[in-house]
Amino acid sequence: LATPSTRQESNADELLGGLLVPGFDERTCHSRYRSAWYRKNATRLLPSSHLINRLRRQEALQRQVRAGHGSVQSRDGAAPYLVLVPYRGLGNRMLAVASAFLYATLTDRVLLLDRATSLSDLFCEPFPGTSWLLPRQFPIKNLRNLTGEVRESYRNLVRNDSSTSCRAPLRLFYCDDDRQFLHRAPWLVMRTDGYFVPALFLNPAYQEELDRMFPRKDAVFYLLAHYLFHPTNKVWGVITRFYNSYLRNADEKLGIQVRVFDGDSPFKHVLDQILACTSQERLLPEVVMQEPTLPPPSTAGARSKAVLMTGLSSWYYENIRSKYLQSATAAGEVVSVYQPSHEEHEFSGKTTHDMKALAEMYLLGTTDAIVTSGWSTFGYVGHGLGGLTPWIMLKPENLTTPNPPCRRARSMEPCMHAPPFYDCRAKHGADTGKLVPHVQHCEDMSWGLKLV
Ligand code: GDP
Repeated sequence: LATPSTRQESNADELLGGLLVPGFDERTCHSRYRSAWYRKNATRLLPSSHLINRLRRQEALQRQVRAGHGSVQSRDGAAPYLVLVPYRGLGNRMLAVASAFLYATLTDRVLLLDRATSLSDLFCEPFPGTSWLLPRQFPIKNLRNLTGEVRESYRNLVRNDSSTSCRAPLRLFYCDDDRQFLHRAPWLVMRTDGYFVPALFLNPAYQEELDRMFPRKDAVFYLLAHYLFHPTNKVWGVITRFYNSYLRNADEKLGIQVRVFDGDSPFKHVLDQILACTSQERLLPEVVMQEPTLPPPSTAGARSKAVLMTGLSSWYYENIRSKYLQSATAAGEVVSVYQPSHEEHEFSGKTTHDMKALAEMYLLGTTDAIVTSGWSTFGYVGHGLGGLTPWIMLKPENLTTPNPPCRRARSMEPCMHAPPFYDCRAKHGADTGKLVPHVQHCEDMSWGLKLV
């Protein structure tokens, strides 16, 4: 964590190579220009000049909705809108926001977020001079009850249109281009819980533009997330205090994200999986069974490793912490194990609970290496924010430790869990993991798609 030596130097880094614009009031959002300080090589993945241009253009579009006024009347010549209703846990919602933002940018829509989630307590406004929150007087209420069943849903519109009746709506959404239906709708309300960027890369209509915006296909979420997600001062306070107290001085930092989908009680097969993975991949040191014959050395010269664990349960953390308290490491490294919270159950949507979740995802991104749980969007955001390619612990089947316990991912991108299985160009069903080299199946979910 180097303190920048000159103001000029700090500015270049603070703006993440032009990803961010200067000029926001720093007091209202401490994290906005400071996030680079908390990540190793934060300027390793810089935005292309075309992405920077597109972001500035999108900011101008977003300013059509003036902060405070909340006027969203469709005026002649005004850009159409995309209203996003993200749902489920915070990881899911953040992936949905990043995807919708990219879709809005590609289709020249103003992105507005449903207010009914805690997102406005968690994140600062990303666009200068305006707000991305849906104005309160928006006429459609009860946005979270919108499903494919409502009369105005795309599914029903497609079903009633005889020319398209045999084609699935999801497929039509992903293959839609500017000559087609959705682009003519001035208001599009989208309710989603996940990352759908890989499917946008399959649409021939967006390919050239996406290639120019993202020469590195594996850094799409990283760049979108650092553009959009700036924790509010309250969350940032927790992040920086935790980091300074427990992580900053370690020689090496390892993140371990534990997410169990079989219930909230502790499972031995999951602990075994964490231990097998970190041992096999040499992420945590071996311990010796007997106390060394020499007295413990002074710790002054010893290498230190800080392990940041996250999870709803504290049981895994207690076991690993106890392992390194009860036994010495073979090479004399000092291992400290920390876990910021253990909420026991998921209470998504509750602000204080979501704030802890955000702080922990962010802290995971400050580590040097990370082990995540397969299928977890919380884990995807953690490693994605850090620009870290994770070791993914595969999801256990039948309450048994999988073999191998984990696998190195091919990229730092999140996995899209519900992809289309359709080739827009050839207009027939296809294995979408085989259409273009940079969209492949995920390590942790065989039918999922991710950018590599
Ligand atoms: P996913 O269910 O693993 O894909 O991740 P989500 O983030 O979408 O939903 C899980 C939610 O459970 C999180 O948003 C948190 O509210 C809570 N949760 C799960 N794991 C943790 C954790 O390690 N720490 C904290 N603080 N909350 C967690």
